[in-house]
Amino acid sequence: MSDKEEVCPKCGKPLGEITTTKSGRQLQRCTGGSWNPETHQTEGCVFVKWIQAEPKVLDEKCPKCGAPLVLAFTRFGKKMKKCSTSGWDKEKKQAIGCDYIEWINGTTEPLDEACPTCGKPLVLYTTVGGKRMKKCSTSGWDKDQRVATGCPYIEWLKPGEGVGNGEEFLPPEETESSSNQ
Ligand SMILES: [Zn+2]
Ligand SMILES: [Zn+2]
Ligand SMILES: [Zn+2]
Repeated sequence: MSDKEEVCPKCGKPLGEITTTKSGRQLQRCTGGSWNPETHQTEGCVFVKWIQAEPKVLDEKCPKCGAPLVLAFTRFGKKMKKCSTSGWDKEKKQAIGCDYIEWINGTTEPLDEACPTCGKPLVLYTTVGGKRMKKCSTSGWDKDQRVATGCPYIEWLKPGEGVGNGEEFLPPEETESSSNQ
C-alpha cells in the first residue's frame, strides 16, 4: 500500500475508506457521491472501485495435480475454486499451469437497491451458469408445498449488463475469456 491518496477517475475527488461487502468483496466508493435512503439512489458521483482480493488458499487439493486450490471471484461475483498453479500468460494470451476450475453454486450479493414491489432490499443472484438476476431478498422457496414464498419480484439481467456502479472500470476477467477446452 502506498501513502498516495487515490482519487476518483471520474470526478477527481478522493476515494473513501475500503469497505467489505457481505459476500467478502472489497470496494472503495468515491467521496463525491452519497447514498440517499429516500430515493434509493446514489447522488453525485457513482464511481465504485472494486478491490481485487487476494485469492484465498483453501484446505483442498486439486484433483488434477494435487496443488492447493484457491477461492477466486470473477468480476460478476461468481465464485470458483481453481488450481493455485493456474495463471495467465499476458504475452501469449493463454492460460498456463493447471486448468482445473470448479464453479461454486449460485451466489447472492446484496444490492444497494430497494425492491419496487415491497421496498425490501434486492439481492443479485448469479446462477451456476452465470445468468444473473435481481430478486427480492424476501423471496424463497417452500420445498414442502413447492411454492414460491415471499415477494415474487425478479428482474433478469441481460448478459454483460452492469449492476451497481463502476463495474466498467474493472480489468477484464482473464480466466473467463479462455474458451479452449
Ligand atoms: Zn467521483
Ligand atoms: Zn491443479
Ligand atoms: Zn420485494
